Amino acid sequence: MKADTQTTILNFIDGVFQAGTGETYANYDPATGKPFGEVLAASKSDVDAAVGAARAALKGPWGTLATADRVALLRKLAVAINARFDDFLEAEIRDTGKPRSIASHIDIPRGAANFDVFANQIAVASTETFEMGTPDGGTALNYSIRRPKGVIGVICPWNLPLLLMTWKVAPALACGNTVVVKPSEHTPATATLLGEVMNAVGIPRGVYNVVHGHGKDSAGEFLTTHPDVDAYTFTGETKTGEAIMAAASKGVRPVSLELGGKNAGIVFDDADLEATLEGIGRACFANTGQVCLGTERLFVQRGIYERFLEGFAKKAAGYRFGDPFDEATTMGPLVSAEHIEKVSGYYDKAGRAGAEVIAGGGRPQVAGLEDGYWIEPTIWTGLNRDAAIVTEEIFGPCTHVMPFEEEEEAIAEANASPYGLATSIWTTDLARAHRTAGAIEVGIAWVNSWFLRDLRTPFGGAGQSGIGREGGIHSLEFYSELRNVCIKY
Ligand code: NAD
Repeated sequence: MKADTQTTILNFIDGVFQAGTGETYANYDPATGKPFGEVLAASKSDVDAAVGAARAALKGPWGTLATADRVALLRKLAVAINARFDDFLEAEIRDTGKPRSIASHIDIPRGAANFDVFANQIAVASTETFEMGTPDGGTALNYSIRRPKGVIGVICPWNLPLLLMTWKVAPALACGNTVVVKPSEHTPATATLLGEVMNAVGIPRGVYNVVHGHGKDSAGEFLTTHPDVDAYTFTGETKTGEAIMAAASKGVRPVSLELGGKNAGIVFDDADLEATLEGIGRACFANTGQVCLGTERLFVQRGIYERFLEGFAKKAAGYRFGDPFDEATTMGPLVSAEHIEKVSGYYDKAGRAGAEVIAGGGRPQVAGLEDGYWIEPTIWTGLNRDAAIVTEEIFGPCTHVMPFEEEEEAIAEANASPYGLATSIWTTDLARAHRTAGAIEVGIAWVNSWFLRDLRTPFGGAGQSGIGREGGIHSLEFYSELRNVCIKY
């Protein structure tokens, strides 16, 4: 358990940490349910100052820096994050309550790696050239060049704070933009710490700014309604995405939206049971189920159904709750009081709808941490696709399992959702794997795996799970403005 140090989180504007002139609110430790510090949020005028600083930096040296120089700075950022690995780790664990085993293997390493990945990407990014004949018998050469899109508003959720924020900031900076980041009100620390690292490696002031606060009538909305922001990249809930898209439509600003999901997993009779239980266990329960790609609807073929449920219930019961800083802890709390209320509300709804509880279903007592936001990994069966827990995103460590007979039936059930983020398909039949992956309407289909990420691949959702793709060259498409130059000679 970490010592009870109080923290004060400041805004980072124009290279300087500032108290802000807006609201002040307490920052809660999800494992204890107690405040451990405060956040000094940004007012409208602070957001103005951040956007102004980002604009000035764009017009200044950053906007004209050679690509090779930006690449070198991004690589330095990756090294510098790793050099302060323990500071980032502690800040992330404290804010989110996620176990050390997750934050040290996923969040912080990926936070650093994002800068390397997009440094590599921009270093080799090419554009098109077309030579053409002209009506008067001459020739013209078309080539395109990349220009920054401008000042990018980056609005982030709390579930993978550093990882998801740098997933946007790294390609935005690689393309020569400047950013104003609004981290989640629940997880302000690592974005703030990154400000120190930006200064340490010599990123010019104003290139990276952080404003704290909530969404509506707060820093989030001040940013999305600011007329001098050129584009927005957002990860979060679908209904927030709608509000951001509406705000961005004023002035026709582009948006990249990575939104919610209600992802289906499909397990066929011929699946390797052990490997499937391992993968599906992670897909349902990792990070206490607070992963947008997580599986909350499972369809299991009849022949393997009973054996699967038996093994799956054991998986759910095998997690160890405890101090997130302890290496042995495998299940942390939910992120906030608000979120535990939401998730436990769904646990109650499942009961009222008559779901059969195969595992979990309640809130555990965790010795010494009784007021934390703990909830049990939970498996339900017995409901159909109309039940709230089967259709609505819960974002907790829970899933509903339904048996099926034929492949077509599983595909139809999986597609019976307005969301379309991800799926995972478990089978040893190659043809079936290809068929199913091609038929489920999602942005990402995993076969015999889950959350296996090559950062060059397109990442994003279909339907209400988002607009656009980020990752590799796809990020560069969003974060740069392509200009065609046509020269007649
Ligand atoms: P959220 O939408 O409540 O909040 C996300 C961010 O938006 C926060 O910083 C919040 O302050 C801000 N915000 C809220 N209302 C706003 C408004 N009106 N204007 C401007 N900003 C506003 O989401 P959350 O609860 O932080 O995160 C969980 C959600 O994120 C889940 O739905 C999950 O599926 C989704 N998510 C999606 C992906 C993906 O890649 N598709 C990844 C992670 C999380």
